[in-house]
Amino acid sequence: MHETAIVRGLMRILEQKAAESGIRRIVSVRLKVGRLRGLESRQLRGCFALFAEDTLAEGAQLIIEEVPVQAHCPACDRSWVAAAYRLQCPGCGGTEAEIQTGRELYIESFEGERACPKDRTPAGASPFGRRHRITTL
Ligand SMILES: [Zn+2]
Repeated sequence: MHETAIVRGLMRILEQKAAESGIRRIVSVRLKVGRLRGLESRQLRGCFALFAEDTLAEGAQLIIEEVPVQAHCPACDRSWVAAAYRLQCPGCGGTEAEIQTGRELYIESFEGERACPKDRTPAGASPFGRRHRITTL
């Protein structure tokens, strides 16, 4: 299943980044998922809970932010939120729309605890300063 590969990639990044920054326990993970990815949030969460068992992410909360599909028509310069794969321009009927958002798949941030339980990184802030794209290779 596709979700399995995604979560495997996610876990690999989390373990690597946690090790780099001395995080011993991951509390929550915020994931951005574009709607064009066709991923089920419920399946992702279930899969994550399974994969996180006996790891530093056990019991961590997986927060999934779905990103809508935003399309842009170059013919009439209109932008709109589209249903997946229905990309006809509502303005001029053009079919050359470009996808601007909806393909996202990355870790927006995660929150963890270092050796001292009180030393928690601020909620919502990425301790790494950039987004972590998930690869499923
Ligand atoms: Zn148009």
